[in-house]
Amino acid sequence: MSETRAYAAAGATSPLALKTIKRRGTTDRDVRIEILFCGICHSDLHTVRDEWHSVVPTTYPCVPGHEIVGRVVEVGSEVTGFKAGDLVGVGCLVDSDHTCANCQHGVEQFCPNATFTYNSPDAHLGGVTYGGYSQSIVVDESFVLRLPANLDLAGAAPLLCAGITTYSPIRRWGDIKGKKVGVVGLGGLGHMGVKFARAFGAYVVVFTTSPGKKDDALRLGAHEVIISTDPEAMAEHAGTFDFILDTIAADHDINAYISMLGLDGNITLVGAPEKPLPVSAFALLFGRKSVSGSLIGGIPETQEMLDFCGEHGITADVEVIPIQKVNEAYERMLKSDVKYRFSIDMASLAAE
Ligand code: NAP
Ligand code: ZN
Repeated sequence: MSETRAYAAAGATSPLALKTIKRRGTTDRDVRIEILFCGICHSDLHTVRDEWHSVVPTTYPCVPGHEIVGRVVEVGSEVTGFKAGDLVGVGCLVDSDHTCANCQHGVEQFCPNATFTYNSPDAHLGGVTYGGYSQSIVVDESFVLRLPANLDLAGAAPLLCAGITTYSPIRRWGDIKGKKVGVVGLGGLGHMGVKFARAFGAYVVVFTTSPGKKDDALRLGAHEVIISTDPEAMAEHAGTFDFILDTIAADHDINAYISMLGLDGNITLVGAPEKPLPVSAFALLFGRKSVSGSLIGGIPETQEMLDFCGEHGITADVEVIPIQKVNEAYERMLKSDVKYRFSIDMASLAAE
């Protein structure tokens, strides 16, 4: 066992602050990682503030962070895939039962015994798992990802959650080349969705509530931008989309986006607002439309996504911050003022 510095919330209304936490000793199949960068996901904020209480209540203290990039410093005796010095990533998952049908099919995120990177029962130390807002982490090697050497580390960290969460449903939809694809919300997830949809050859349209993000959306790869609060602009595109990825983190009218879909169109929710969204049956019936959801991605697909990013030079657009600015970053995230992901430089934690 070892001790490491971290930023933790003591309760739903407490700011994140410095705390020393314990990490387990490296077992035979474990990899110990010195964390270099960790992205800030809106899920971190939902969890820290216990906004998902009805689904997964938060246990405090809570150390969030599941967009982790770091360097291997120690490996267990049975580890075959990694050695000290390797640059690696860890996303939302750190373990699973390895035996259920979902694990066998490489969708470990749906394993009934999956261990998430934070706020999940910790089989080794008791209590709950602690995430990446810390100096080091110890992870079973099956949940450690190889990082392509050409990627900027601060920009690569968000790929571990925002990247895979948008890559997976786009791939699952099928061949989107030439299809009209909408991305709703230009935040951390949304801007990655734009990059992937464009890379796979779709005609990409961003729906945003922030007119000031229009130029950025086009630069990131969108062909068109719709200001979703403009009813005329919305009406012009009604019934024309093949697929829409909804990344909104807050309450919103999903029916407005269902009406954008054409025949057999699908809207996939990846955003996880606190409250249920009412869906109009009629909006789905006329046009045989469907609403679905998607949760991160399994380990093989996450590696595939990272390799794809390596080949195509894709990373997140990040604003690098010291960890001391994390509480301010949360407030800015709530105001949709992130361009387009905060990435914490963990060297700032050692300096505190
Ligand atoms: P984010 O960076 O805060 O981006 C969310 C974007 O949604 C904002 O930038 C804003 O875009 C738009 N938005 C926010 N409030 C809105 C409102 N009231 N009405 C309309 N649009 C609004 O968040 P994120 O990290 O991308 O995460 C988005 C959601 O996905 C969160 O709920 C998060 O928990 C969830 N998530 C899910 C998974 C999964 O596996 N399914 C994984 C990670 C995160 P504009 O300024 O462009 O309007
Ligand atoms: Zn996340």
